[in-house]
Amino acid sequence: MIDLHTHSNASDGTDTPTELVKNAHAAGITTLAITDHDTTSGWREAISALPTGMNLVLGSEISCQTEDGISVHMLGLLFDESNQALREELAKTRENRVTRMGRMVARLNEAGIEITLEEVLAQLSDGATLGRPHLADALIARGTMKTRDEVFTALLHNKSKYYVSHYSPTPVNAIKLIKSAGGVAVIAHAYASHRGRIITAEMFSDLVNAGLDGIEVDHRDHSETERASLLRIAYEYDLAITGASDYHGNGKLNQLGENSTRPEQWEKLEARADQRRVVRI
Ligand code: AMP
Ligand code: ZN
Ligand code: FE
Ligand code: FE
Repeated sequence: MIDLHTHSNASDGTDTPTELVKNAHAAGITTLAITDHDTTSGWREAISALPTGMNLVLGSEISCQTEDGISVHMLGLLFDESNQALREELAKTRENRVTRMGRMVARLNEAGIEITLEEVLAQLSDGATLGRPHLADALIARGTMKTRDEVFTALLHNKSKYYVSHYSPTPVNAIKLIKSAGGVAVIAHAYASHRGRIITAEMFSDLVNAGLDGIEVDHRDHSETERASLLRIAYEYDLAITGASDYHGNGKLNQLGENSTRPEQWEKLEARADQRRVVRI
């Protein structure tokens, strides 16, 4: 089973990279991608935890924003970690996430909701990418609410008055960076309309021109209609079709392997990387 989109505590998942790899192995995943938000900091540990025979795909889920402010998540897989332009862009996003968190905390405080930036940072593992889920965890630690989902629904969703965006590249630029670093670019949950504004079908042509390689179709946040629309776009542009769990450990209900990628689609995707960078021991 192939699962190409998962998170560890190098971003907002709750498993360490070691636990992620072990849990995936136990769940029958044979090819696993580790795709933490805007970072590659979990790669090394994931590699050292890899069981014999399991394939590890190193990647990152890159936060993006279109010029008109639509949030897009771009999975970069199999890219060269030492690529300077890509490293700098990810670092810029991660740094801005800290400033952004300060602003969200200030907005909550203004509304009488007590929380400090220190409490939020205390929820973060060393070197991990800061995100709204850590703010949710800090509020949970205070005992106000019980689950991340509850906090997101009440306070942290994309249309909330407490929501602040952070710096991120456009999807076109993110694809270009991934491609120049030798990797493949797959747009994640592009039609998850209940999360917020989504891109239009017309916008895919710009992404394809920039080098888009695949579309994540099977994802729990997509309805049947949304999957059907994305499938049509994938066929139109001859893109690889993926499915993935977007597992976050205990941070979300998503279970490893609940959606997966067909082997021939993975082969199609992998063939578009400049080298075979899959890790296997
Ligand atoms: P950020 O990247 O800081 O804007 O935070 C977005 C992240 O929050 C997403 O990548 C999700 O993993 C997580 N998230 C969004 N909605 C929920 C939810 N309802 N429950 C748990 N986590 C969520
Ligand atoms: Zn996440
Ligand atoms: Fe995402
Ligand atoms: Fe994700």
